[in-house]
Amino acid sequence: DRLIQPELQGQDEAIDRAMRPKMLDEYTGQDDTRAQLKVFIQAALNRNEALDHMLIFGPPGLGKTTLAMIVANEMGVNIKSTSGPVLEKAGDLAALLTNLEEGDVLFIDEIHRLSPVVEEILYPALEDYQLDIMIGEGPAARSIKLDLPPFTLVGATTRAGALTSPLRARFGIPLRLEFYNVTDLTTIVTRSAKVMGLSIEPEGAVEVARRSRGTPRIANRLLRRVRDYAEVKHDGIVTKQVAEQALDLLDVDLEGFDYLDRKLLLAIIDKFMGGPVGLDNLAAAIGEDRETIEDVLEPFLIQQGFIQRTPRGRIATQRAYDHFNIIKPN
Ligand code: ADP
Repeated sequence: DRLIQPELQGQDEAIDRAMRPKMLDEYTGQDDTRAQLKVFIQAALNRNEALDHMLIFGPPGLGKTTLAMIVANEMGVNIKSTSGPVLEKAGDLAALLTNLEEGDVLFIDEIHRLSPVVEEILYPALEDYQLDIMIGEGPAARSIKLDLPPFTLVGATTRAGALTSPLRARFGIPLRLEFYNVTDLTTIVTRSAKVMGLSIEPEGAVEVARRSRGTPRIANRLLRRVRDYAEVKHDGIVTKQVAEQALDLLDVDLEGFDYLDRKLLLAIIDKFMGGPVGLDNLAAAIGEDRETIEDVLEPFLIQQGFIQRTPRGRIATQRAYDHFNIIKPN
């Protein structure tokens, strides 16, 4: 497991819960999303209606679950959480839907992984608050219809393209989360340190933020490891120098890259002369599968301008060469 992987690992879940902002005003960054949501929430509250269904796109660890919980808090309703792969049978979803109270939020993480049978049940539920389900089997089977209370589905997905278009069309509010800039991540790190009761100097917080790959979950994880280092090797206070030493020791470099990012970039540079190189060749060269490259490694490297994706394959940019102090051949 990589220290900088954005998916949940180790104690993340408990920590995430403790660090999670509860209201929209505490949610740092994502200014456009926040501004839009504020209006939609206020409008729904004024009309005393359930908020429209909402779809949140974005890489892991950027705050999709957090936002779903905030929506429920701001609307003053309950939230029930599940995820696409957990809902195997139509009945699994029916059980959740029939337990909702008026206005409640149903949060489905990884909604692109819903099975087709479950998705079928979801359509009438979303459109008309109707549950249309078959019970029994063979000749005794019959279909029953139930009215559901108005509710809000909040779907989250890391892969915008993987959603079927009929499902996508049923969300009135699509939101796209972006990687966070260093200023916003610094705010998040400072706030998390406060929650943890950790003393951190502003330059120390910037150092952790800079190496967190634009991802709050990674920032919180690095902060925990930096705290360990500060407590064991120093007096417990995270200065810029302490943060630098700790993160160097953890092999997270100035760009937030670890060995795997460097391996990928160096493979393009050394083995494929800077590219373009196809995904399969690249996967074989670094011994990882295509999905890991596409879903985990690339998004941040592309967003930061270290790799370019072209029709003929991946290319290492000037920035990538500069990072390793290698001269780019013409
Ligand atoms: P996702 O569901 O997108 O994988 P989460 O909502 O679980 O991500 O966020 C991971 C953690 O990052 C949260 O527990 C929270 O501590 C932190 N976090 C995410 N977004 C923000 C934000 N905008 N402001 C402050 N902390 C955040």
